[in-house]
Amino acid sequence: MSFKIPTTQKAIRIHETGGLDVLKYEDIPVPKIKDNEVLIKNKYAGVNFIERYYRIGLYPTQKPYTLGSEAVGTIVLKGSKVQGFEIGDYISYLTESTFAQYTNYDPSEKAFKLPKNSTDEKLKLYAAAPAQGLTALAFINDAYNVQKDDYILVTAAAGGVGLFLTQLIKNRGAHVIATASSNEKLKLAKENGAEFLINSQTEDIVKKVLEFTNNKGVAASFDGVGQDTFQISLDSLARKGTLISFGNSSGAVDPVPLTKLVSKNIKLLRPNVFNYFEEPKEWEYYSNEFKKLVESGELKVRIEKIYPLSDYKIAAEDLEGRKTSGKLLLEIPQ
Ligand code: NDP
Repeated sequence: MSFKIPTTQKAIRIHETGGLDVLKYEDIPVPKIKDNEVLIKNKYAGVNFIERYYRIGLYPTQKPYTLGSEAVGTIVLKGSKVQGFEIGDYISYLTESTFAQYTNYDPSEKAFKLPKNSTDEKLKLYAAAPAQGLTALAFINDAYNVQKDDYILVTAAAGGVGLFLTQLIKNRGAHVIATASSNEKLKLAKENGAEFLINSQTEDIVKKVLEFTNNKGVAASFDGVGQDTFQISLDSLARKGTLISFGNSSGAVDPVPLTKLVSKNIKLLRPNVFNYFEEPKEWEYYSNEFKKLVESGELKVRIEKIYPLSDYKIAAEDLEGRKTSGKLLLEIPQ
């Protein structure tokens, strides 16, 4: 089997940091592959909040920079040292620069090989779930190992990571206290297993948490919102509680004096999901667990909307404007 590979392709790039206007949909060269890499013709790419951080310069990158952090596609070219993957195989993978028609990638890294007869639904699932689903899975095990009957606060519970956290925490027999900015989003969090709901725009989160936990506070807060909720999460914790501050949707958290942790002996983490599956054994464990959850339907994946690659700017505007729940995908022109 061989594929005709063009020399140029469409991609979403930035040449400078800034607002949505720095996003460019442009023609760039198709990348060359190394011996240990494959060339993937992308079909769907998952949208994640991290693209905003690259764009605004919170996380530095070289320029020009092709955005994207996960995708699903077909292997169209294979380096001489690649094992276990063939031309024509479908692959779902986590790496940079996936908002493009073609991406070069070492498939021995963070990838899922998908059957040749995979349906379009399956391809969408494997473009939508890996980054956010693996984040939720690794965090509820490694960042704070959620226990049955724990009370856990999840901020932005109707978001991409939030819906996965909510389902997984509920499945472990713990109680999810969910925050979201609208009643529609809270309804969705409830459908995904949240037991207690707090509208972050109209209610006092700490007061409600204390009410729901009989004044004890929560065992852990999974907080991807960052700046706006850091203190709220801290105040919501029980004695010896754990704050997992894993994102910056509202802005980066300001430096924290360690004395803030003293009064309740708080554990504070700022994890990066990739550090939990750095070792091949860790990846094997988490990727297998993830696959089981997704394939069995135990972990439900909500795809909110699919945008053409050329409309990424609109997708980013929707995500950053808090208009979305669950996952956004980009469809890559074939
Ligand atoms: P979401 O789908 O959760 O979107 C972000 C949500 O944050 C919004 O929907 C909104 O929910 C909430 N939010 C609160 N304040 C703001 C604000 N000022 N501007 C925008 N949104 C706001 O995104 P993802 O699921 O992709 O990511 C969630 C978080 O997890 C991000 O911070 C991301 O960077 C982080 N992350 C971290 C990882 C890690 O390894 N550390 C890995 C993966 C994700 P509402 O309207 O309900 O408030």
